Amino acid sequence: MTVNDVRDVIIIGGGPAGYTAALYTARANLEPLVIEGFNWGGQLMLTSDVENYPGYADGVIGPKMMEDFRRQAERFGAEFLRDDVTRVDLSERPFRIYVGDDEYRADTVIVATGANARELGLESERRLQGRGVSYCATCDGAFFRDKVIVVVGGGDSAMEEATFLTRFASKVAIVHRRDEFRASPIMVDRARANDKVEFVVNAVVEDVLGDEVGHVTGVRLRDTVTGEASELEADGLFVAIGHDPNTGLFLDWLDHDDQGYLVTETGSTRTNIPGVFAAGDVQDHTYRQAVTAAGSGTMAALDAQRFLDEERHRAEVSAAAATSA
Ligand code: NAP
Repeated sequence: MTVNDVRDVIIIGGGPAGYTAALYTARANLEPLVIEGFNWGGQLMLTSDVENYPGYADGVIGPKMMEDFRRQAERFGAEFLRDDVTRVDLSERPFRIYVGDDEYRADTVIVATGANARELGLESERRLQGRGVSYCATCDGAFFRDKVIVVVGGGDSAMEEATFLTRFASKVAIVHRRDEFRASPIMVDRARANDKVEFVVNAVVEDVLGDEVGHVTGVRLRDTVTGEASELEADGLFVAIGHDPNTGLFLDWLDHDDQGYLVTETGSTRTNIPGVFAAGDVQDHTYRQAVTAAGSGTMAALDAQRFLDEERHRAEVSAAAATSA
């Protein structure tokens, strides 16, 4: 086992929240280590054009944006470890973070491991991600002006996304595997009242169809009652079947809600353990945007910096008092 020196801060997660926390803590001379994950970059690595991140006036490709974020933090001395954390011990300070047999210790930890949109689990879905298959209407809706869109799901997200997508699309079909909805009745009614929305119930998407240049052309459906197969032509597929926060490593230590999202104090990134902060989608199931995650990463960096400053100030005061006694 390798045991490393105690750091001021370790950031777990390499998405917009983690890299922004790294930028701020690096510029505060806290020499952060970012354990960014083997699949660094987070959800933006599955995104093609990003047009809603301020500062990129001409838009940017998701992976390029994450490279830019990472490079900016690196410029100020952030260190990166491209591997997955396997275990954490937050029982006492310094906190212990493990990557296999290697132990990393830090006085503060920022958890920024994000959340993943649930996928249908189809090979064709994977292949066409960013080419018509999307998991975020706010992010990608504007690419589907006057197009036909299929939204999968029967929860509030599916209703909200379908209704939002009618701003752009000529038609939106909500495909749901049952004929009852998990969504609140008011959200279902709002979608039903929209002329552009149609419902296809008791149906699952079995395959996403694409053309030879790799763009979505439709979906193959299976009726969950009769077993019958059918096809629906569409230019886009929005999968809205929920999100899973990447919090498995932390559930024994940190307060979380019933869906597994970490709970932070209102208006801050403080968790229930002093010195541990949570930023980005791992604690946010409302906004889920790159820019809000980056903002939250900034908050976590400032919270960690203030936590360390206050603690050091207290230590200096008590050392001075002991000397003068
Ligand atoms: P959700 O409530 O968990 O709903 C997920 C939906 O996807 C369910 O209808 C589920 O079907 C379906 N589904 C799950 N796995 C599937 C699969 N493999 N294939 C086909 N369908 C599948 O998730 P959500 O809609 O993202 O909402 C998450 C939370 O955020 C909820 O608490 C919700 O109220 C909240 N939210 C609120 C608002 C709002 O108030 N404005 C907006 C968005 C979200 P079954 O029903 O058959 O299980």
